[in-house]
Amino acid sequence: MTDIPHVVILGGGFGGLATANEIRNSLPLSKVKITIIDKKDWFMVGFAKLWIINGTRTFENSIGDLKQLQKKEINFLQDEILSIDLQYKNVKTKEDKIPYDFLVISLGAVLAPQKIPGLIENGYNLYDHNQLSEIHDKLQKIKSGKIAIAIMGMPYKCPPAPFEASLLIDSMLRKRGIRNDVQIDFYSPALITLPAAGPEVSKKILELVNTEKIIFHNSSKIKSVESNKLIFENNEAEFDLLLAIPPHTAPKIIYDSGLAKNSGFIPIDRDCKTPYENVFAIGDVTSLVVTENMAVPKAGVFAEGEGIVVAKNIISKLQSKEASELFDGKGGCYLESGRDSASIIEVDMFSESKPSTSISEPTPENLISKFEFEKERLSKWL
Ligand SMILES: Cc1cc2nc3c(=O)[nH]c(=O)nc-3n(C[C@H](O)[C@H](O)[C@H](O)COP(=O)(O)OP(=O)(O)OC[C@H]3O[C@@H](n4cnc5c(N)ncnc54)[C@H](O)[C@@H]3O)c2cc1C
Repeated sequence: MTDIPHVVILGGGFGGLATANEIRNSLPLSKVKITIIDKKDWFMVGFAKLWIINGTRTFENSIGDLKQLQKKEINFLQDEILSIDLQYKNVKTKEDKIPYDFLVISLGAVLAPQKIPGLIENGYNLYDHNQLSEIHDKLQKIKSGKIAIAIMGMPYKCPPAPFEASLLIDSMLRKRGIRNDVQIDFYSPALITLPAAGPEVSKKILELVNTEKIIFHNSSKIKSVESNKLIFENNEAEFDLLLAIPPHTAPKIIYDSGLAKNSGFIPIDRDCKTPYENVFAIGDVTSLVVTENMAVPKAGVFAEGEGIVVAKNIISKLQSKEASELFDGKGGCYLESGRDSASIIEVDMFSESKPSTSISEPTPENLISKFEFEKERLSKWL
């Protein structure tokens, strides 16, 4: 180790920011140097993207500035990470080579619309921050026809988010007085709405979308997209505006480093360790299996929870104590349902008997709590 141990955190998203802040809140610069590397200099809570789509937000008033980290003596480097050398313990960026004593990989998931032939040419990517304003404009201009929201690969970030999108779009169209002239179709490769939350929560979400006349088409496995046409394995469907959730992969450098295989994610256990000493992986870039058919969903709350566990274990190691924290798999996700309300989906992935999930009734108070969740993250991390 160098004189002052160096924790290098790859990615300044949910997981990276939670880890860095947790360590710095416990240990001063004289005990540990912390560096976050990210190619962009801003952070946005994922669900704000839906508010840009419905026009209640702009991109500029939804982001926090990663350069603010310097104030907390967390070094921020805006640079693209090109490779990780796990043997010689350094990270190569476009501009530099950075040695580490502890490495936390929190690089998130990559959106891969190119995996679906015809998608880039014929549809929008609902999760791409560069396309949100254009999607908003299209939704403001549409007068009649069919809007398709299509999940094109599993797993994807924040399983309830596409349903929230459909409900917020329903609200937008209702306010414009044209809801009866626009059909909203929701396509998913899964059998039920939210496999990650189980059949009971899925049934409630189905009821919620059915109430708003959003048509849920299950088992719709996409093959390709043509102009105004979705080609599934078993049938076809027409659309006028396509909002897609493309397949997700890990970043290329993760495959190059051998940390994940094929198009999968870094396998971890509840201690978030990788096979390499003092190298941890958290959040969307990982896969944490719960049961044969279930993994921890890709969501900010879980990336944050895992980040805190890793931070505590790094702090213990630095203090020569036992590092025994495990991620508890608990978290709550909001499901905004339009009509100025939201539900909360509570998850307990590692509860004693089996994973447990529940969903509350939609209320305006839950929506206020969602606003608070965002505000709190931005103010405590940046
Ligand atoms: C529409 C939408 C709604 C959502 N709603 C919720 C919600 O209500 N609740 C919830 O908990 N979660 C929600 N999420 C999911 C949440 O945003 C993600 O799960 C979370 O951001 C994952 O955190 P992470 O740290 O793993 O990755 P990220 O937050 O994605 O951070 C990864 C970072 O790594 C950087 N990076 C990647 N590759 C490189 C490279 N080569 N060089 C440099 N930097 C790199 C990226 O720029 C990025 O900043 C939502 C997501 C979306 C899209």
